[in-house]
Amino acid sequence: TEQTLVLIKPDGVQRGLVGEVIARIERKGLTLAALELRQVSTELASEHYAEHAERPFFGELLEFITSGPVVAMVVAGDRAIPAFRQLAGGTDPVEKATPGTIRGDFGLQTQFNIVHGSDSPESAAREIALWFPSLNS
Ligand code: ATP
Repeated sequence: TEQTLVLIKPDGVQRGLVGEVIARIERKGLTLAALELRQVSTELASEHYAEHAERPFFGELLEFITSGPVVAMVVAGDRAIPAFRQLAGGTDPVEKATPGTIRGDFGLQTQFNIVHGSDSPESAAREIALWFPSLNS
């Protein structure tokens, strides 16, 4: 089976969507291998989003992701990486995510799109090691 790193971002936690997101993950048939509510440091946020360091929204992204607690999870199951991306929907909650997805159902703005999920096996390995260094997989 595959593992993916899922984050419920500060907007999702603040809006009380933790249970909703976890329920969708579980109903899909995926399982939780690790879960923690955590205040993110600027250091962890910049490492997590290192690929966006040159983007104009990087500063705002770091400010947002460190603005309140996030729920970090390792989600496991058959094809867990694309399976969670499907549950999340596209990055822009209005133009890309369709109704029925987490972002399509609950989001309005690209910056505040509720969840993150790893986008490839390489990202998943890197992100799980970054967020849960004590897990060996
Ligand atoms: P994530 O990596 O969080 O799962 P994603 O892979 O769908 O999202 P990316 O293109 O990797 O999208 O962008 C990472 C995050 O940066 C987005 O989820 C969003 O929060 C933020 N972001 C992306 N594009 C913009 C933008 N144009 N303006 C503001 N924030 C943005």
